[in-house]
Amino acid sequence: MSRKLMSLLILGVMILSLGLAGCGQKNATKTESKVLKVGAEMTFPPFEFQEEGSKEYVGFDMDLARAIGKQMGYEVQIQNVGFDGLIPALEAGNIDIIVSGMSITEERTKKVAFSKPYYKSGLSIVVKADNATIKSFKDLEGKNIAVQIGTTGAEEAKKIKDAKVREYNSNSEAYMELKAGGVDAVVNDLPVNEYYLAKSGDKNAKLLGDIMNAEEYGMAMTKKNTELTEKVNAALDELKKNGEYDKIHMKWFGKKAQ
Ligand code: GLN
Repeated sequence: MSRKLMSLLILGVMILSLGLAGCGQKNATKTESKVLKVGAEMTFPPFEFQEEGSKEYVGFDMDLARAIGKQMGYEVQIQNVGFDGLIPALEAGNIDIIVSGMSITEERTKKVAFSKPYYKSGLSIVVKADNATIKSFKDLEGKNIAVQIGTTGAEEAKKIKDAKVREYNSNSEAYMELKAGGVDAVVNDLPVNEYYLAKSGDKNAKLLGDIMNAEEYGMAMTKKNTELTEKVNAALDELKKNGEYDKIHMKWFGKKAQ
């Protein structure tokens, strides 16, 4: 073999091995960056929403989801999905986890695996400020009620005798209908009603003291992915222990969780 051929061969082998090494590295980084696809419905402040004029998804749930992802070493990608489309999106594999103020209910537990509860909530009523007849859930009999489709509020409203329940895709539309005088009341989660009254500047609405159903929010995953549920629960425990959960709670509610 000539010297020239020999050096060409050596060069060839070198290039080849460099190329292979490069490939190996690429594969390694690919498996390292795991993605957590989070689904939420974005008209549920202060849990998940968009500030006016901003595309960014913000709120208690969004901060918590990002903190959990970080704790687990996952890159978090958030998607806006209609509330009644969240469980179907999970089942179809379009998202990995629902973090959307979703109450843990028996019905839902048949379909999905919930994390440990992460927030205590309940249902309450908003009426026009000058409404003197509706004081509690009992007074909603025969009344027009606005709710968000697929929610526990919608379920409860439908159980009220002779009530006419109008279901909207978003919570904002339900409040707008009350403002416009199309319904007598909105039934929605207490912290979201409180936030609406404090932030919307709607002086013509008031919150009633009657609270129904002790509900707890959980993050929903498929029952198949038990490993993810375990990781999320472990991350949640850690965030509660290291003070991060309290920090996020303080940011959105101005107080520590009870
Ligand atoms: N907590 C209620 C439910 O789970 C409402 C949630 C929501 O509208 N995002 O049905």
